[in-house]
Amino acid sequence: MVIYGRPTVQFGTVVGRIAEKVDVVSPQDTVLICRDRVPNVDLSSFAALLATAAVAVPVRNARMVVCESIAHLVPDDLVSVNGKSGHIRTLFRSRSSHNALFVTESCNNNCVMCSQPPKNESDEGSLLSICLRILELLKTTPPPHIGITGGEPTLLGDGLLNLLNNLKVKLPSTSITVLTNARRFSDPKLCAAIAQVGHPSLRFSVPLHADVPDIHDYVAQCRDAFYETVNGIYNMASSGMNVEIRIVLHAFSVPRLVSLAEWIWRKIPFVHQVVFVGLENMGYVKKNFAALSIDPVNYAGSLTAAAMHLYRRGFNVSIYNLPLCVLPPELWGFARQSISDHKQILLEACGECEVAEHCPGFFLSAENRHSSGIAPIRLAAMAACRLTGGMSSHA
Ligand code: SF4
Repeated sequence: MVIYGRPTVQFGTVVGRIAEKVDVVSPQDTVLICRDRVPNVDLSSFAALLATAAVAVPVRNARMVVCESIAHLVPDDLVSVNGKSGHIRTLFRSRSSHNALFVTESCNNNCVMCSQPPKNESDEGSLLSICLRILELLKTTPPPHIGITGGEPTLLGDGLLNLLNNLKVKLPSTSITVLTNARRFSDPKLCAAIAQVGHPSLRFSVPLHADVPDIHDYVAQCRDAFYETVNGIYNMASSGMNVEIRIVLHAFSVPRLVSLAEWIWRKIPFVHQVVFVGLENMGYVKKNFAALSIDPVNYAGSLTAAAMHLYRRGFNVSIYNLPLCVLPPELWGFARQSISDHKQILLEACGECEVAEHCPGFFLSAENRHSSGIAPIRLAAMAACRLTGGMSSHA
């Protein structure tokens, strides 16, 4: 989340931890939020102050930004504060389990359904240095999980190795998931170098769009992407890396879903998990919505066949970003709470639904574009559909 405020003095970008009280161990690492009053003490050593307009007063030698609202910030969140533009970006949300390090805006694919379209002129050095600063601030309170995303993280080369080495030293107990198209892993040297880092809990999540090159390459908008990705997956497995496959569900991937499940079983049975992912209506999806869109109720049969094909052959299977009422009951056990809490919503109709607390819900961006199959579920129907005891039966 990004907000804008008005700096009372100009200063360079700082990254710090949110606190509400002045008695902190390292004020130089702290962004103090002042909701009710600005404390009448020396505040010059704090990285920055964020104050609401109602309480802001001039403070000598303090780097203050006056904001309309800071209600979304809580202690131990991490933010960057740009003391020139007044740009305040939330980098890590302490109460969320869906945090990620955004390491680059560049990508060697240009997928038709990318929710974060690449920009190839990004300032990668500064993104990486912000990520390293985040790790420094998190090392005293390591989160259970963190993602690494972009863009394509492997384009950072040594920068990614540096980041992974830092993660191993500073957050060794945190599990890491790197989202990658795996094309650069077709270089065995990169695999060997990353395997050598030896992070104790590192997973690579690789999107696969079809079992045939033409469709995969079309979705990735890149010739030979399929062969490079598959070579990358084999190299990663040979290097002992933990690989997960993600299949984003849209009009180009759905027609070959069952063939892709069979291909995964026959060609890459070593992968640790296969995840079927509902579309997020962001980025290129908004632009290409008419071509990509397919109502989940219209692919429920293919999704069931593909998911059960893999599950019965011993794969860990998950479904992300799809609400329960658009899934056949036998798939409910695969549905995960995958949508970041600040992006997740339920609709008005969900108020009458008796399984709402188990439902992954929707992306905020899907509020006005969602499945025709949304309908409240009643407990009797839930029992009939074996939800009781079945919600996690495939987990
Ligand atoms: S009605 Fe709403 S809460 Fe119930 S399963 Fe559907 S989307 Fe989820």
